[in-house]
Amino acid sequence: MKLKIDPTEIKGFLAHEEAALLYKMALECAPRGPCLEIGGYCGKSATYIGAACVEADEILFSIDHHRGSEENQPGWEYFDPEVWDEAAGAVDTLPFFRDTIRRAGLEDTVVPVVGRSIDIAKRWHTPLSFLFIDGGHTMEHALNDYRGWTPHLMPGGVLAIHDVFPDPADGGRPPYEIYQRAVASGLFVEEQAVLSLRILRRL
Ligand code: MG
Repeated sequence: MKLKIDPTEIKGFLAHEEAALLYKMALECAPRGPCLEIGGYCGKSATYIGAACVEADEILFSIDHHRGSEENQPGWEYFDPEVWDEAAGAVDTLPFFRDTIRRAGLEDTVVPVVGRSIDIAKRWHTPLSFLFIDGGHTMEHALNDYRGWTPHLMPGGVLAIHDVFPDPADGGRPPYEIYQRAVASGLFVEEQAVLSLRILRRL
């Protein structure tokens, strides 16, 4: 894996083992078509998935409104004052994302799509080889991401879901619930799991 920047410098919530597995799966999938992630934040996962896309001469679309998830808001557990935009009176992670992608040499590979996942999914028509769901953790957002994006995954494509915590003591339930829903649908089989990352194959 060739990264042009030190990933430990990038803000984010992705462990190295999880990032390495995302890279490996995207490397396998990307020769078949574009990859897409929901929840770009400051570009950590995009750096890894994007590096895999470079190898296949493909594109990673990175969806995020860049205003932060619920837990990134002031007063919440994962609020980072550095990403607060005083003039906007809101979180703004887009400058951090762009800086990461530029420094990683991925400006021709990672395409940021700035907006709400549900609005973009409704109008999307391009089949995807690899889909990484790492967006909002409320049931509403997790379900919208699952329902909105999984129909765009090619047969044989890979669905990766982050923050899957079987034990509620470890974290919120919605990502776990959409993971369970995917398995129960009969459309996906689980292939790998590392920490809170689950890798499912679309049949
Ligand atoms: Mg996450």
